Amino acid sequence: MQLIRTNATLLSALQAQRQQGKRIGFVPTMGALHQGHISLIRISQQQTDFTVCSLFVNPTQFNDKKDLENYPRTEASDCEALAAVNCDLVYIPTVEEIYPPDLISPHFDFGELATVMEGKMRPGHFAGMAQVVHRLLDLVNPDALFMGQKDLQQFTIVKRMLQLMNSPIDLVCCPIVRENDGLAMSSRNVRLTTTERSLAPIIYSTLKSLKDPNYRLHFATPTAYIEHATKALNETNGMSVEYVSIVDTTTLQACDNWTNSAEKACCIAVRLGAIRLIDNVLFK
Ligand code: AMP
Repeated sequence: MQLIRTNATLLSALQAQRQQGKRIGFVPTMGALHQGHISLIRISQQQTDFTVCSLFVNPTQFNDKKDLENYPRTEASDCEALAAVNCDLVYIPTVEEIYPPDLISPHFDFGELATVMEGKMRPGHFAGMAQVVHRLLDLVNPDALFMGQKDLQQFTIVKRMLQLMNSPIDLVCCPIVRENDGLAMSSRNVRLTTTERSLAPIIYSTLKSLKDPNYRLHFATPTAYIEHATKALNETNGMSVEYVSIVDTTTLQACDNWTNSAEKACCIAVRLGAIRLIDNVLFK
């Protein structure tokens, strides 16, 4: 596996691959890798010839300075995990490489996609996320980009960004990888206390029943389910709900009934002690 820290070296390494006609797959991450991230690498390897993973904790997408300071940084074990699955190249840039003083980042208008759910709770987050993804795509210039359903709103916004850029890059949505007890894998899970960790699976157990159409019939409307789920989660020790939303996955706007044919997602964000967790399920 090639380990590269500068843009100049990255460009020449990728040029060499392109000259051999290789299709390049890209998996951007903030490091602290877990099996969820590794699943994206494997999907990229199945669909492309050369897989690039970036490790970069992007300061511009953190609206909470403490969260940025406390974000786990585990470069050595991340590189080991990537080498173990034969990732071809890991790119670990500095903040200066990503944001040189003369960089001009485009502004994208994501409209209502970016004002609901995470956009409401984390002002500026999606502008920062789009900025770094745009910059990384400019540097890596991949044929395909692999991102997780775990961050469904992020995925939808990147999809819109690629449309606005008229980009030919294939964007691939990769399924959520979970722990055995259902908790969605997240770099933040390691910061949960033992008690919090034992309570966290309630998020997915609340969500997964929605996949069953018969279960949904217990609730006259999505709003009735949202009230029920919010109460159950808030009654869990140390947990407080930021939002439970049921949205159309294309528009991310709230669904007012179960019956239209659009693909829907139930998205949940909670705080558990000091840690913020998100999860979602898809259904029709
Ligand atoms: P992050 O390092 O948190 O920015 O995540 C990097 C990529 O991994 C994003 O596209 C995430 O959606 C994806 N990801 C994070 N957690 C999981 C998971 N549990 N399963 C699958 N993909 C994930």
